[in-house]
Amino acid sequence: VTVACPLCGAGAEPVLSAPDRLGVASGVFEIHRCRGCGQVFTWPIASDAELSAYYPPDYWGERDEPEPSWIARNQREKTELVSRVRPQGGRLLDVGCGAGYFLRALAADRWDRQGVEISSAGASAAERHIGPGRVHVGRLLEAGLQESSFDVVTFWASLEHMPNPQENLVIARDILVDSGLVIVQVPNFDSYQARYFGPDWFALDLPRHRFHFTVATLTKLLKRAGFEVQRVGYRSPNHDPHALKHSLKSRWFGSALGRVAYYGAAPFLGAVDWIAGGATLTVIAEKTGDRTT
Ligand SMILES: [Zn+2]
Repeated sequence: VTVACPLCGAGAEPVLSAPDRLGVASGVFEIHRCRGCGQVFTWPIASDAELSAYYPPDYWGERDEPEPSWIARNQREKTELVSRVRPQGGRLLDVGCGAGYFLRALAADRWDRQGVEISSAGASAAERHIGPGRVHVGRLLEAGLQESSFDVVTFWASLEHMPNPQENLVIARDILVDSGLVIVQVPNFDSYQARYFGPDWFALDLPRHRFHFTVATLTKLLKRAGFEVQRVGYRSPNHDPHALKHSLKSRWFGSALGRVAYYGAAPFLGAVDWIAGGATLTVIAEKTGDRTT
């Protein structure tokens, strides 16, 4: 069977195969890399209906209701980044907003907050907190948002879930004002964690993650959608130690010695990740005059 790249149509080669680490889907899933554009993707490409069965009920955090102080702490990495790049605030759309933790943590006096969320449970939880009419249930492609109506569009750990990341970035560009910013945070397939753990890497999240990005492939995608990359970050204090912890468990928990090693290493995971260089890409890109798709 010839595997074709969903982005450019060129042939692709297998990179690795791995099971669902959350144990929801059975079987083994393959990851392929395009020989043309270099994009890495999960194969076969599952339909939305197939994939929706593979999300555990609390995947997006819509089940429990955490304290506002926990949300503020948990989201600080993102709210501080957004405040640094746009201290004056503005109109912001969070694509794949889940239960709206990030939107809730944004200062409501400076930010006009809206979200898009495919899970109706997540969307209604988000809407309860940030106000009626502010969360669009469904896909960004069908939300019918007005052109040039946002200053910032964010994709926090959501672009890798979508079957058509290119189209989503093009829409993000269209709904942004000139010089508006898109912020994309995804697991880094070029990271030490991805290389070291391979099929055991927790952030592969097969089959829920359909695309696996590197700084090169994400930059290419953003350029084609009409963005210019301004800044790239490689570390996430929220995601990286968490992914390292679960990857080590997958790798080491098979033996008693491994368990001892894991509990010995556990207190140092944050420091180890920081020194090793992180496992998450956070890219800030500005809408430019032209696009090529
Ligand atoms: Zn390709």
